[in-house]
Amino acid sequence: MSKKRKRPDPVLAGEVGSAKAHEEFEQSLDPARSPGRPPGAKNLDVEEIEGELTRCPKCGSTERGPYFNRRDLPIRGNHLVTGLPYTSIVVRRCQCLGCGQHRDDKHYLNHRKK
Ligand SMILES: [Zn+2]
Repeated sequence: MSKKRKRPDPVLAGEVGSAKAHEEFEQSLDPARSPGRPPGAKNLDVEEIEGELTRCPKCGSTERGPYFNRRDLPIRGNHLVTGLPYTSIVVRRCQCLGCGQHRDDKHYLNHRKK
């Protein structure tokens, strides 16, 4: 058989698993569907770790268009600002509404096992 002796598999959507969790996970990523994400409204095993507010590096505006070109990176670590553990990073591109500059925003996700 294969002799893969890397790190254990990261906990990603497939393993976290249930379709419902995944669906709500997707919704939590969609700014159009959950613009404000009210505190305490989430009772999921997937938690988004908030970092600093994303901001245009060019003009400083936090106004942005919708995200697109999403990439899920199975990278674990601890958030530099909050110190909270994360199990994956989602990178999404968006466009600044202030100056039109494109940028990639990172969001750190923590898939907790129940
Ligand atoms: Zn800008």
